[in-house]
Amino acid sequence: MNENPLILILLGKSGAGKGTQLNLLRERLGLEFIGTGNLLRERKKIKDFTGKKIAEVIDNGGIIVTPIPFKLWMDSFEEIKNNKENFNGLIIDGSPRKIKEAWLLEEALEWYEWDKRVKVILIDISEEEAIARITRRKICPGCSHIVMFSKDDTDIENCPQCGSKLIKRPEDTVEGIKKRLAWFEEEVGQTIKYYEENNMLIRINGEQSVEDVYSDIIKAIEDDNN
Ligand SMILES: [Zn+2]
Repeated sequence: MNENPLILILLGKSGAGKGTQLNLLRERLGLEFIGTGNLLRERKKIKDFTGKKIAEVIDNGGIIVTPIPFKLWMDSFEEIKNNKENFNGLIIDGSPRKIKEAWLLEEALEWYEWDKRVKVILIDISEEEAIARITRRKICPGCSHIVMFSKDDTDIENCPQCGSKLIKRPEDTVEGIKKRLAWFEEEVGQTIKYYEENNMLIRINGEQSVEDVYSDIIKAIEDDNN
C-alpha cells in the first residue's frame, strides 16, 4: 500500500483530449479511475426513485444536483479504501465542476487520508481548437471509442477498435459545442480560478501531440514542488 497515493484531478473543455490522456495514465501508471459520467450511467440502471430521476434529467440535458454524484464518489472511495490491496492512486475525471464540488472533494480526500499528493491538471485548449476538434470527430456506437479526424484520415468510416460504423453525435454541432463551452466557462471557470489562486493548478498545453501532452503531465506529476 502506497502511503501517499497520487490523486489526479483532470479538467478540460470538451475536445481537450482528456479521455485519451486518462487511458494512457491509467495504463502506464496503474491508477484507479472515477468518472462522474460513468458513475451516473451505472446508477441510472437501478430503477428506483433516484435512478429514474437521473435518467430523466440527463435525457433533458439538465444538470444533476451535487449531492448525487458526491454520494457516488464517496461510495467509490470507500470501496477502494477497503478493497484495493495495491493502491497507487486515482484519477478523477469529470469533476469537480462547480466550485462547491471542489470544496466537498477536498474534504472527502482529507477524510480518506489521500490529501498529500493531489495534482489538479488542466489540459488547456482554445475555444477555436475545441470547436474545430469536436465538429470533426465521430463516435462509435458499439464501443464508445471516439475518432478524432485530422486532415489525413477523413475517410475512416468504421471503428478501428470494433468495426462498427462510426456516427456523428447529434450534439456535436457548432451550436451545441458553443453551448457546452459557455457552460464550461461559467461553471468550471470558477473552479479553475479557485485552484489557480490556491497554487494547485497545473496548466498543460493541450494543443500538442498526444505524447507531448502526456509527457508534460508526467513531468508535472513528478515535480513535487507543485
Ligand atoms: Zn467501436
